[in-house]
Amino acid sequence: MIIIEFEAFSILSHTKVNDFVNFLEKGKIIGTICKKCGKKYFPSVTDCRKCLSNQFEWVELDNKGKLETFTMISVPPSRVQDYIPPSYNFNHYLIGIIKTNEGFRVMGWIRGLKLEDIEIGMDMKCKPLIFNRRGRKRVTIELIPLK
Ligand SMILES: [Zn+2]
Repeated sequence: MIIIEFEAFSILSHTKVNDFVNFLEKGKIIGTICKKCGKKYFPSVTDCRKCLSNQFEWVELDNKGKLETFTMISVPPSRVQDYIPPSYNFNHYLIGIIKTNEGFRVMGWIRGLKLEDIEIGMDMKCKPLIFNRRGRKRVTIELIPLK
């Protein structure tokens, strides 16, 4: 699950974090592709786990894909509780992973579906969701059915 606290994001260089966040605020999701071996990553990494290269190309996703897997969380871990978007049921919320048309796997909160309405392979889009909680701006990803 991608959860970004603007003040405490240490995976990427400062410049790249700003780029990443700027794109998210515009509703765009950016993935990275290893320039050496072509492996795709979301969220971004600084070193390729396959070939150890640190050279990456940033690509904008079209945000559409198919649901690969999902699960229902009945009791969130305490460290996650501040990151659950306000519009979501605190208990019994759904999360899933879509594989985008470009081949990136994106995990997010599933919006607007009941457990019995979800099917593997259904068309969904991923969308950044920005909200405030406890005085901090947070960014996460929602998965929304296309129909
Ligand atoms: Zn690589």
